[in-house]
Amino acid sequence: MLQVKRWCDDLIGLLLPNLCNACGAAVYHSEDLICTKCPYDLPFTDYHQHGENRVAKQLWGRVLFNAAMAMLYFRKGAKVQNLIHNLKYNGRTDVGVLLGGLLGERPKVSSFYQDVDLVIPVPLHHKKYKYRGYNQGTFIAEGIADKMEIGFSEKNLVRNNATESRLKKTVTTALKICRTFLA
Ligand SMILES: [Zn+2]
Repeated sequence: MLQVKRWCDDLIGLLLPNLCNACGAAVYHSEDLICTKCPYDLPFTDYHQHGENRVAKQLWGRVLFNAAMAMLYFRKGAKVQNLIHNLKYNGRTDVGVLLGGLLGERPKVSSFYQDVDLVIPVPLHHKKYKYRGYNQGTFIAEGIADKMEIGFSEKNLVRNNATESRLKKTVTTALKICRTFLA
């Protein structure tokens, strides 16, 4: 039955092709979020392997943290921007889970992130949440937690602008993963 549904979806895909969320090319299977080429084409960093990477250096002296990283290099008009745009502005929360899954693979092979036991998305300001209807970080965090096989919680962090500077001093490594990815 599942196979029949997939054939039907693929037939619909031939008539009304789904497009890769990164490059805009038609995707082969209707459920694919990005084409087969893009995972090999995305500009991945190797920051998870290096404690003294560019992201960590930007945070030195500003907040307490154990490790920080970004998964992808960002360039205006390129694939990474398309992915983030689709996640943030086109309601493609599944792209967030996909990106989180890719991000979650990296700490597993890095000595810097072995102690992480909970992934916490940074809450959106309530005005932004009301406007967008969801926190894109939630879906990225879900993808990370799923891939790392660790916990996920939205209840352990509350955004309060009046105490934001104090909050920043106590964020955990897990929080840093999400924050730097979304920067
Ligand atoms: Zn693509």
